[in-house]
Amino acid sequence: MPSRENEPLKNEKNDSELLIQQALKNNEFIVYYQPQYKALRGQLASAEALARWKKPDGSIGMPGEFIPYLEQSRQICELDWQILRAVCRFLKNRFQAKAEVVPIAVNFSRNHLDEEDFAGKLCRETDRAQIPHELILVEITESSLASDSERIIGFVASVRAQGFHVAIDDFGSGLSSLSMVKDVDADILKIDRSLLSGDLGNDKDRIVLESIYEFANRLRLTTVAEGVETREQLGFLRTCGCDLIQGFLFAKPMPEEAFARILSRQATPLEAQKSASEDILKIQPRSSTMQLLTEVIFKKYPLVIFSNLTRNSYYMMTYDNFTTTSCPPAGVFDELIAHGASSMHPEDRQLFADTFNSDALLAAYEDGKECVRIVTRQLGDDGIYRAVETSDYFVKSPDSDDILVITLCQNV
Ligand code: C2E
Ligand code: MG
Ligand code: MG
Repeated sequence: MPSRENEPLKNEKNDSELLIQQALKNNEFIVYYQPQYKALRGQLASAEALARWKKPDGSIGMPGEFIPYLEQSRQICELDWQILRAVCRFLKNRFQAKAEVVPIAVNFSRNHLDEEDFAGKLCRETDRAQIPHELILVEITESSLASDSERIIGFVASVRAQGFHVAIDDFGSGLSSLSMVKDVDADILKIDRSLLSGDLGNDKDRIVLESIYEFANRLRLTTVAEGVETREQLGFLRTCGCDLIQGFLFAKPMPEEAFARILSRQATPLEAQKSASEDILKIQPRSSTMQLLTEVIFKKYPLVIFSNLTRNSYYMMTYDNFTTTSCPPAGVFDELIAHGASSMHPEDRQLFADTFNSDALLAAYEDGKECVRIVTRQLGDDGIYRAVETSDYFVKSPDSDDILVITLCQNV
């Protein structure tokens, strides 16, 4: 039996639940838009739609007031569809007025995973307003990933198959594993604002963030930093190669009319303008610079192999359109050399094996050589021998005593 003291509280709760239900029926939920800007130059790129409760007395209720109850009573899906319809109406009006638009992210609760034909419904809602699918980004929270992996992978695939983009929201806030992010084929990773604590004066905070951005960039996910409030945070995120910034530093969530004005002006926030004029080399993200450099190297050398001589291991960094593609992409270094030798012209086999076996390379390194290079004739998939230059560059591992080799191959 509940105590008497608790009764007024319980009634109060029931009253507010009733009000939320009525609000849903009376379409009292409206959309606020929070712009997302490109991290380096500050141009407007997209926005997130956030639900607000416009109460009959004119005050605005925040999600914390109504989302938990809607989630628990499973009415959240209805709110999400209302928000999506409002976003579609907004975009449709802009199209009709021939005004600028940007993609809009809409939050969808994990309860939609249980909905039959979610992707089909998404298509019907957006097609009714004639909105191109790529203008709608479906945000699902990281905690949804903790559910049945097969289902979430299928859910995301079905949404993307219809041309919508998918973002994983609040990454780093909860339970999801890195392997889920790898398996769920999303387009965008939104990094939770809890990871941006303070001004990032702490080494460990910075290392964790740097690693997340490195990992996301290498998986070719677009990254969005949530909750950016200070210039120090912005500066750091730029060096991490973060793509988009969403936070109070640039703009708070705002009513539709205010966002429409920003869209029409395509205004770059003052904070972004200030820092965009800083030395470009300082703000050029390290990971994107490295990516460009790697792309140029791959253009010149179609086969690049990274090996650890000390550990007798290798992996092929690229082997596009090269004569020999039948080697496993990673494995034992000496087996790679034996395999390579077998595809050489018979007269070149001994030279190749004698030059590149791991003992010979280690001896060359001990002798102080920086590089070992030879030209051999190699059999292509088309049955023709071609002259190939193989250059092995030695590097000492920065983290251990291991001797590493970068192999660059090109047809000559
Ligand atoms: P979210 O999807 O992660 O949205 C971002 C939240 O971070 C927003 O809070 C936004 O106002 C806040 N935020 C953005 N930049 C900053 C910043 O620089 N500093 C701080 N302190 N906060 C910042 P909001 O609008 O209160 O929404 C809270 C959560 O409610 C959302 O988090 C989302 O999970 C949920 N939500 C909001 N609208 C909807 C909706 O239509 N459907 C569903 N299912 N959930 C929604
Ligand atoms: Mg969100
Ligand atoms: Mg979020």
